Amino acid sequence: MSKQDYYEVLGVSKDADAKTLKSAYRKLALKFHPDQNPGDEAAEAKFKEVGEAYAILSDPEKRAAYDRFGHAAFEGGGAGPGGGNPFGQGDPGDIFENIFSQVFGGGFGGARRRNGPARGNDLRYDLEISLEDAFTGKDTEITLPTAVECGKCDGSGAEPGTSPETCPTCQGAGRVRAQQGFFTMERTCARCAGRGKVISDPCKTCGGAGQVREDRTLQVKIPAGVESGMRIRLSGEGEPGLNGGPKGDLYIFIDVSEHDIFERDGPNLYCPAPVPMVTAALGGEIEIPTIDGGRAKVTVPEGAQTGRKLRLRGKGMPSLRGSGHGGDLFVEMMVETPRNLTSRQKELLREFCECSEAGCNPESEGFLGRVKKFWDGMTGEDQQRPN
Ligand SMILES: [Zn+2]
Ligand SMILES: [Zn+2]
Repeated sequence: MSKQDYYEVLGVSKDADAKTLKSAYRKLALKFHPDQNPGDEAAEAKFKEVGEAYAILSDPEKRAAYDRFGHAAFEGGGAGPGGGNPFGQGDPGDIFENIFSQVFGGGFGGARRRNGPARGNDLRYDLEISLEDAFTGKDTEITLPTAVECGKCDGSGAEPGTSPETCPTCQGAGRVRAQQGFFTMERTCARCAGRGKVISDPCKTCGGAGQVREDRTLQVKIPAGVESGMRIRLSGEGEPGLNGGPKGDLYIFIDVSEHDIFERDGPNLYCPAPVPMVTAALGGEIEIPTIDGGRAKVTVPEGAQTGRKLRLRGKGMPSLRGSGHGGDLFVEMMVETPRNLTSRQKELLREFCECSEAGCNPESEGFLGRVKKFWDGMTGEDQQRPN
């Protein structure tokens, strides 16, 4: 069988950069993935071809060797003397896992390429919850598609009544060594894709994969106090292992959505609260909500300014471990200048202004003082003092 050029397999030019290669590979790998094409042998062959091409071209050293020697760099008869792998790295099978874990955030049957027992893939589930739920904690149900062992073939991938046979190319090792000139390297057996076994009569239910996708519903306990970015690990709820390997884990990634009223910083909550100008000047009370759904009265001190924070102890988020007290709620005051005044109100404010005395507006007065100094410092220089 003559092999197609790796660049042609991926549909990229000879000078394609790593990013182009990767995106071309992802597209094709998804298109031809056995899970998308159950039982389609042509697709499976194509999938392997694409994987092989990417395994070589994504590795700079292997790519250089390929550019120089073509397929001959990686083919040729059996084990040769000398040993050692001049490229010194990696099982191309790993690339599948890496890519798929990036595409799907973990697990997509990459481990089936292994010979011995392999731990199942970890799964990722993104769960968005409200701030209120993060405050109280929550028991919830999630439904996620998972690969489970195919019940028809018991995970062997072979149609019931038949069984997988030892791969004649690698004698079951899953890997072959090839020598060409001074290159001796070991690579994953292309015929069995590293499984060490070939299936002549693939299971019609799973297409030979040994696994099928199924929706599972799980109960999840979200602890009070969780924050965005935290993960909850459900041990053993990932994908099944292969050849007797243990199951992977399921990671639930928490994203706490933004709240209309409260902003969160760790255990503390911040609530910006408008305060009418008169209340801020004379002092008074405002009512603000708390995350538990209650209300709290906050005393605004006389002469309160925008940006001033009032702390309500223990009204923040609970601490995650339940130890110690949780966070606080900070009410951040924003003094509101009144608008849409009636002429009577304007009149009163003008009157108010006329009887204002020095010291009523210390910030403004201080600022004017500094400005005056600044201008005075410029006299005698070329600068013109603005009028
Ligand atoms: Zn093989
Ligand atoms: Zn099956």
